[in-house]
Amino acid sequence: MMLIMHPHTILLHAVCQSLGADTTAKAVQLCCCSDQFSQPASYWDVTPDVLSQLRTWWQQRMPCTPDTQLTDEQYLDIVARFVGPATTVSVPCYNGVRVEVRTAGQAVAELGRRLALLVLTLQQLDLMNRDPPRVCITGPPGTGKTVVLVQQALRWLLQGNDVQVISTRCSTRAVNALITEQIKISPSVVRTASQIPGKMFYHRFDFYKREADTDTAIKKLEACEKDGKLFVLIDEAHFIARDDAGKRHTKLISELTQSVPELHLWAACVQHIDIPKELQHEEFTVPLRCAPVIQRVITPVVKMVSKQVREYTDCGVPAPGDGPRVVELSHHGNDHTGQWPAECNKCGKEVAAELRRLDVGRAGGTLTNSPAALSYRDVFILTRSSELHDDVKDDAGNVTSPASGVVRGLRDAGVPVCVLAQQDAQQNEEQGEKDLESVALWKKDEVTVTHYGAVQGLERRVVVVLQGKTKVADKHRRKNDIEVVDILDAVSRCTTQLIMVKKEEKMCVVL
Ligand SMILES: [Zn+2]
Repeated sequence: MMLIMHPHTILLHAVCQSLGADTTAKAVQLCCCSDQFSQPASYWDVTPDVLSQLRTWWQQRMPCTPDTQLTDEQYLDIVARFVGPATTVSVPCYNGVRVEVRTAGQAVAELGRRLALLVLTLQQLDLMNRDPPRVCITGPPGTGKTVVLVQQALRWLLQGNDVQVISTRCSTRAVNALITEQIKISPSVVRTASQIPGKMFYHRFDFYKREADTDTAIKKLEACEKDGKLFVLIDEAHFIARDDAGKRHTKLISELTQSVPELHLWAACVQHIDIPKELQHEEFTVPLRCAPVIQRVITPVVKMVSKQVREYTDCGVPAPGDGPRVVELSHHGNDHTGQWPAECNKCGKEVAAELRRLDVGRAGGTLTNSPAALSYRDVFILTRSSELHDDVKDDAGNVTSPASGVVRGLRDAGVPVCVLAQQDAQQNEEQGEKDLESVALWKKDEVTVTHYGAVQGLERRVVVVLQGKTKVADKHRRKNDIEVVDILDAVSRCTTQLIMVKKEEKMCVVL
């Protein structure tokens, strides 16, 4: 340091004077320089040399009696405090404050936050600008279909029109609860006094189970017509002509188009085939939801079903980060019990350990510019196992059948868990709706464990996929493959950190 300062005699003199040293050599001894510390690339590696140098420097600066000398641990604390991760400095700057990302959990939280920022592609903006009256948006998961539907509903509301939001299946209740909430809260943000928003109405039907629901829906919607106009939104629609549900959706569109003079209807679905001729077909294929590392798991599977679902395309704009590696756990070895991960207490504990590694549920970082820590509500644990359940109790409150192993394992490890039954399997439909709404609207800080059919259309920053058994045997499934449905319906819920728990030791996902 002094060598560098040598040409600057005035500065050198000032330094010596301020340190109270009469020679340059003494001034140097009083300074603690960066080369006395550990290597910057491995600052945690405090070698005996470093400790010795620090001790010498400290003793020169702080003469003290032997009984108050610092211990090695105290030196380590000093090193950690002043050059380790706990260090912060405040400097005035003209740029915005830099976000400090120092742990795996913070990285997941921050990347997830960036991925969730609303992005519209040029194609989506173009569609919004053209504003056709009747549209069906199709595309693989995570391409922004729901976002555009919500934007369109807001436009209708701000124009003073009433909007009818239709759920045609139990498994779409959660996403529809989310959509209606987003639509409800958004006008209060953007409206001005001169704009009087219309009202939103939410209708629940089941086109998959009840044939009569189609006619009920048509009658209900026709009754909502005002001055010849009707505004309808259907997310997660289904038009496949060979299915009863597909025929019922198509019938709804066809009859409403005939009976309502000015029908405005925007629908969205994954499959691009059999779209009713009354709807202008718009295809979204640019992935917007997931980090690239997860997209690489989903893309090849979408290719396998390309007869029904369009393949992803690249918009040319890089994502804010590639994302953390996919974590792979195995339901295999000592202490693992049951045939499938969902039945296994040990798998629950291993998942809990991964959540701990990501600091899920811990209080936010000590730094004001750290990303908010991941909370339990950021986590979905999904399986296709139809036997997943919570504690079953009798009327007296006694447990007659304990919760699935994975749920017990998580609870034993201190993770708050909400087990969401599939809507189709609900004993109490009203309570089921409330539970679903609570998950869709992030109300409780709990990890949601459920069949992935229950959370269709929702997304989370951390998703754990448990391989599980299905009711239907499929002869085309190969033993060790990650199943197509697992990827399409469960993995695609994840924005940032994916954790896969496989039954077998070997994984066959090519990343
Ligand atoms: Zn296990």
